[in-house]
Amino acid sequence: MGVNIIGIIIVFIVIFLILQVICGVITHIIMKKKGYSSSWFFFGLLLGIIAIVIVALKPDNSEKEESDEKKEHNKNKKIKTNGWKCTFCNCNNSDEAEYCSKCGASYGQSVQNGEEKKV
Ligand SMILES: [Zn+2]
Repeated sequence: MGVNIIGIIIVFIVIFLILQVICGVITHIIMKKKGYSSSWFFFGLLLGIIAIVIVALKPDNSEKEESDEKKEHNKNKKIKTNGWKCTFCNCNNSDEAEYCSKCGASYGQSVQNGEEKKV
C-alpha cells in the first residue's frame, strides 16, 4: 500500500517535470515567434502554464523588428540609386562614378572630407 503511494507520487513528479519542460519549449517557441531573441526556455520551465499565459499576453515584437529591417533595406537601396554626394562641391554623382564629375575628388576623399567636417 505504502509502496504504491510513493510510486504514484513519483509518477506525478515525473509527469509534472515533463509538463514543465513542454511548457518551457512552448514558451520559447511563442517568444521566438513574437520576435524575442533571448532564451525563454527556463522561464517556461520554472513557471509552467503561468509562463505560457504571460508570454501569450506579451506584445508582438517581430513586426517592429521586421519593419525596421525593411526601412534599413530601403535606406540602403535609396543610397545606391541616388549615388553619392561630393562633400567638396556638393555635386551629386552616380554610384558607378569613382571620381566627382565636377571637382574630380575621389569617393574616398569625399567621405574623408565629410567625416572631418563632422568632427
Ligand atoms: Zn566634387
